[in-house]
Amino acid sequence: MERLLAGYRRFRTDGWPERRRLFEELADHGQRPRAMVVACADSRVDPGMIFDAGPGELFVVRNVAALVPPYAPDLAYHGTSAALEFGVRVLQVRDLLVMGHGLCGGVHGLLHGVPAEASDFVAGWMGIAAPVRARALACDSPEAQQLCGEQEVVKLALANLRGFPWIAAREAAGQLVLHGAHFDVRTGRLSMLGEDGHFTEVS
Ligand SMILES: [Zn+2]
Repeated sequence: MERLLAGYRRFRTDGWPERRRLFEELADHGQRPRAMVVACADSRVDPGMIFDAGPGELFVVRNVAALVPPYAPDLAYHGTSAALEFGVRVLQVRDLLVMGHGLCGGVHGLLHGVPAEASDFVAGWMGIAAPVRARALACDSPEAQQLCGEQEVVKLALANLRGFPWIAAREAAGQLVLHGAHFDVRTGRLSMLGEDGHFTEVS
């Protein structure tokens, strides 16, 4: 915790003065982010850092493996779906990006089983991605299986997003654009999912 508080003090000393006006503006007029990102909780894939975005720019929800559950408006605790509803219906973001990443522990758990300590919630959560498991395991090498799993999870997330009626309606009306991406932790490079179903590195 001391490390966090030392970081906070640096923020107050170095970061706050130059951002003070921006925060006051955001406080007075509210947030109006243009983009929403669904990302993994992994500590190496911070969307704000990757997209060099400042306060107020990105509405972000992070969970294990950047999954999007199927649309299911019931009484379960749908944290990711609640964030989607707020971002899309209330804030009316124009772009919605799902970003998977390399070396994803959640995807590794999907393919090879989650650690025993993660059986209460993670195992069930990763069950959302069960439809892509066999396709990923059909790849040759362990590395190819992992990468395929990470990319297929992004495609599944986009398909599930389109099952949310208010996302599908906004996309059909040209008010919302969905995107898929994959961030390589080792190289720091981002690839975008194209209409051909392939991921291409951003130049
Ligand atoms: Zn991950």
